[in-house]
Amino acid sequence: TITSSKQAIALEEKYGAHNYHPLPVVLSKGEGVFLWDVEGKRYYDFLSAYSAVNQGHCHPRIKESMIEQLGSLTLTSRAFYNDVLGPFEKYITEYFGFEMVLPMNTGAEGVETALKLARKWGYERKGVAENQAKIIVAENNFHGRTTTIISFSNDANARKSFGPFTDGFIRIPYDDISALESALSQEGVVAFLVEPIQGEAGVYTPADDYIRKAKEACASKNVLLIADEIQTGVARTGSLLAVCGNCTCQGHCERQESYTKPDILILGKALSGGFYPVSAVLADKEIMEVIKPGQHGSTFGGNPLGVKVAMTALEVVRDEKLALNARKLGQIFRSRMTKAIQKYPIAKLVRGKGLLNAVVINDTSESSTAWDICVRLAENGLLAKPTHGNIIRFAPPLVITEEQLHECCDIIEGVLREF
Ligand code: PLP
Repeated sequence: TITSSKQAIALEEKYGAHNYHPLPVVLSKGEGVFLWDVEGKRYYDFLSAYSAVNQGHCHPRIKESMIEQLGSLTLTSRAFYNDVLGPFEKYITEYFGFEMVLPMNTGAEGVETALKLARKWGYERKGVAENQAKIIVAENNFHGRTTTIISFSNDANARKSFGPFTDGFIRIPYDDISALESALSQEGVVAFLVEPIQGEAGVYTPADDYIRKAKEACASKNVLLIADEIQTGVARTGSLLAVCGNCTCQGHCERQESYTKPDILILGKALSGGFYPVSAVLADKEIMEVIKPGQHGSTFGGNPLGVKVAMTALEVVRDEKLALNARKLGQIFRSRMTKAIQKYPIAKLVRGKGLLNAVVINDTSESSTAWDICVRLAENGLLAKPTHGNIIRFAPPLVITEEQLHECCDIIEGVLREF
């Protein structure tokens, strides 16, 4: 058993592949907005496992439903029906307003599923010539780590020495409707895959009407809009989905003017509140029905344990009004940080939506300043991680209270003052 952080880090260093560069903190317990390390030090979590624990760590209601399901059935594979999948499919499709769902496990699998679906739809419904389908993506996108997904990334580190890559993608600048319109005029385009806010790139928040205009442009060319809401979805940005715009009904209204319905919606991460990998691809029948038995699947996708957990995780989001809390506290966070950067020149910009925010550090992206700030934040009891060099993402669980948020802003300001 592990008794010190040093010991745990040494084991990972020796036996684990070095595909991550973690902050030197070894965690052993989580509850709500808090994490504890093996020495018993308590931290505010401002990463939320890359937005997978929007409901807070070890949420008691999700835990209970997982334990209940563990006692009866965990996995059947899709070779047979199970008695939880159907109720989940009805629940999630009604919850998000789509006709059908395809369950997978990780976010990257969800993205791969959406790409396959869009291509097949393109050939069978749109009449694109076989093997000629093209999918438009945005510069600085992050959609996961599989070979096809990194094929359309422009992150050199994510791609170097992993080729050859998958063909059939057109990359355009993000938040640029005229670039989209000109790409849409190319032959064989079937879909535009986009993050409503680019999380990994550094919480790049586009113009308010970007997604709405993108959908209109796509619709006019019979091209599918695929929204990757793996990071932004499930209340993170202050509405149920980032594509809900300024609507705070948590997706349960009559979908009024600010909502842009994507043709394909990809969810993951917080869909299961951090308990179990569950991702989902949602679409209407006309699209989803192009996939027939034997053409796509996953041993664990749609398993009773995962889908039970996901259903409860979504209930928690609705019952605890997490979108409203994210919206309200996000405004407080950005207003405090906006004032802070006027006082502390080491920070130069604050951006984001709801409780998905970033502070841009006033240094080159090669410098270690953002990392050093995160180390000092950890020493002061708050965990956050730099993304793309000099940008620090701040994304606490959405169950955080106003009082706790103010305490966290005090910690962040105290550290910025030191630099
Ligand atoms: N898409 C987006 C927007 C993400 O932020 C992520 C993960 O950070 C993924 C896809 C990939 O998800 P996963 O790591 O579960 O494969």
